[in-house]
Amino acid sequence: MTLTDGSTRIMIDAGVNPSKLMAMGLKFSEIDYIFITHEHGDHNRFAGQISTKFEIPVIASQGTLDNTPGILPRHRMQLVNKSYKLGTLHAFPFMVNHDAVEPTGLYISNEYSEKLLFIPETGTMEGIDAKADFFVMEANYSKATLEKGFDDGNINSKLYDRIFSPDGHLAVEDAIEYATTDHRKGKPFLFINTSSSNYIKTILPDNCTIAMAGNEYKFGHETPY
Ligand SMILES: [Zn+2]
Repeated sequence: MTLTDGSTRIMIDAGVNPSKLMAMGLKFSEIDYIFITHEHGDHNRFAGQISTKFEIPVIASQGTLDNTPGILPRHRMQLVNKSYKLGTLHAFPFMVNHDAVEPTGLYISNEYSEKLLFIPETGTMEGIDAKADFFVMEANYSKATLEKGFDDGNINSKLYDRIFSPDGHLAVEDAIEYATTDHRKGKPFLFINTSSSNYIKTILPDNCTIAMAGNEYKFGHETPY
């Protein structure tokens, strides 16, 4: 997916084959930055290829860059704990809880100081509490579906434990709870579901929608997603 304020475009992760994305209408010439959340293949596999071919800088933590092959030195933009000006956007990276070297989320603000909190794969929301106007978060599975799969013998215990661990993946049930409590209540949430496991659309509250892979999402008062 791509996040934009209408001017600066940040592509989130690069795990999907670029030719597939182009067939879906994505124009790499319009992408200003590629942000890689962590080094798992379904997130970084094509980062080197895309950045080299289209001359796009890759922003990521040092741990992620060190474990993502093929990115030319001139395209490496290493995030440390400070805020960055990325075109018309300001971005601040933060660590999340996932079984990768240095998994990172982004807190982004546009020129009207409207804020978007992008939360990638994380096992727990503990400590992720920044106030924002828009939220994008990965929630890859349904606890109910996973429990059923385990009970039916379709999911082995190793995978089951990995997904459920505090540095694993977030369930849509937990994402909904996060999206409906405290200062986040009623704010627009976009859920990214990168795995094929399904969760039921009808259980989503009104402020939550599911992102379509490869789509561009604009945030801000003029063009809320
Ligand atoms: Zn991962």
